[in-house]
Amino acid sequence: MNFLEERIIKDGIIKPGNVLKVDSFLNHQMDIELMAEIGREFKRRFADKNITKVLTIEASGIGIACFAAKEFGVPMVFAKKSKSINIDGDMYVAEVESFTHKNKNQVIVSKRFLTPEDHVLIIDDFLANGCALQGLISITESAGATVEGLGIAIEKGFQIGGRVIRNLGYHLESLAIVDAMDAETGEITFR
Ligand code: 5GP
Repeated sequence: MNFLEERIIKDGIIKPGNVLKVDSFLNHQMDIELMAEIGREFKRRFADKNITKVLTIEASGIGIACFAAKEFGVPMVFAKKSKSINIDGDMYVAEVESFTHKNKNQVIVSKRFLTPEDHVLIIDDFLANGCALQGLISITESAGATVEGLGIAIEKGFQIGGRVIRNLGYHLESLAIVDAMDAETGEITFR
């Protein structure tokens, strides 16, 4: 078991509806040493890539994306959720359905911060059905930039997102893949 899997076993809480709560160490209260370790692990897994930018989506991806960006020595950009339907032409826009909130958001990135010269590492905390990653891929490719890889802290392997993204040919690395979890017994099985 790796460091993140161990922490999930210790402090993760399984909620009904296939939700894993990790808010005591990853996305509400943050264990900064753990997040730094996650950043180093992404650097190790994508060491051969010439990354120029790390891209994530607000809010819960921002923490780990910062640590990853620091390892690569590049800026971190996060896609902002926007309610406005009148988005001007200075933005790349994608529609993302939220797994946890079940609503749709437009997410936007300023054209100033992604260019065709960029080689992008996309980072997020969770991968479930893959909507967030698909939105970030779409924004990156709209900019003419290259998706070099996608790094996820926790993939729920029993949901479809990981398979879809890998089948599209992208290099996806998940630090912990949960293949099964049981809200009643609290049991978690990793791949
Ligand atoms: P997807 O777009 O892949 O369906 O869902 C990914 C997004 O939903 C992530 O950005 C994450 O914030 C949220 N998410 C999905 N599943 C979980 C989960 O089990 N626990 C938590 N805390 N967030 C999740």
